[in-house]
Amino acid sequence: MKKIKFNLPLVNAHTHAAMAGFRGLAEDVALNVWLNQYIWPAEKKEINPKFIYQYTDLAIKEMKQNGIRIFCDMYFFAEQVARAAIKNKMAVVIGEGILDFPTPSAKNPDQALQKTEQLLLKYKNHPLVKVSVAPHSIYTVSLANLIKAKDLARQYKVLYQIHCAETKKEFDDCRAKNGLTPVGYLDKIGLLDEKTLLVHCVWLTDDDINLIAKRKSKVAHCPLSNLKLGSGVAPVAKMMAAGITVALGTDGAASSNRLDIWEAGKFAALLQKGINLDPTQVSAKQAVEMMTINGLRALGFDNWQGQPIEFWQKRFEQGGSYNFLYQAQSQDLKFS
Ligand SMILES: [Zn+2]
Repeated sequence: MKKIKFNLPLVNAHTHAAMAGFRGLAEDVALNVWLNQYIWPAEKKEINPKFIYQYTDLAIKEMKQNGIRIFCDMYFFAEQVARAAIKNKMAVVIGEGILDFPTPSAKNPDQALQKTEQLLLKYKNHPLVKVSVAPHSIYTVSLANLIKAKDLARQYKVLYQIHCAETKKEFDDCRAKNGLTPVGYLDKIGLLDEKTLLVHCVWLTDDDINLIAKRKSKVAHCPLSNLKLGSGVAPVAKMMAAGITVALGTDGAASSNRLDIWEAGKFAALLQKGINLDPTQVSAKQAVEMMTINGLRALGFDNWQGQPIEFWQKRFEQGGSYNFLYQAQSQDLKFS
């Protein structure tokens, strides 16, 4: 196929880059089994700063090959992620994973928060590295720690990224425990605002969608990981119709195998047509918007390569239908 010129930055709004080291570790199992029996034990055993650096480096090379220019990461030893990104001249939003239990890089959540603050200071105004605050989820982080983390994010005016409403189990458990949906719970404790990035959002009520839109929070949709872990399909068409900025993520290579946001965009468009029995839902152009402009907006890039977001928005609008989404792979694109 003839190469297709493409002059917008592809943005991977959610990944755990160094999970490239766990690619293929466990397939065809449920999320709780996948996490409890495979991923968390492997992380405990294998993760150290060197592992993170090596596999993030590998993941970045793969992302670059697939045209990705910016990625948002949530993992451990986030400083190593920053080092690997700088070495590869890749823009990154790093996030030191905050969990209530000990992680490979922090004895407790307070230490993870301290590490986050050190990173915020170290990379202040860095040309390639932005720092986010990254509590893992509502089922691994207590209410008090979720709030402490948001306070830190607000203090430094940075992105707050959290997995949210990924599985039916998370949704049902939250309702049983708190009498609220995961989104309702996050809103009740004051965590939803324009600098909150909700990752997944598969299990939402119509009220949740309205709430996310009202608070101007952003969503990172990870269709391949949601499909493979049997989590479901996020109501992306409804979210976009409500005016929510939905960006796209690959998630880690252990759950979605390939770090290819173009592929995620194609899945995102096809899925919405299929589940809504409506081929007009999520056009090729909307899918490209998700993987480019919405990525910039979701991660807080008001400026990219010296140009304001309006410049990139205009360039996107001038790009026509983007119907080549359906025929091209990222390898068929010529990035300029
Ligand atoms: Zn994730």
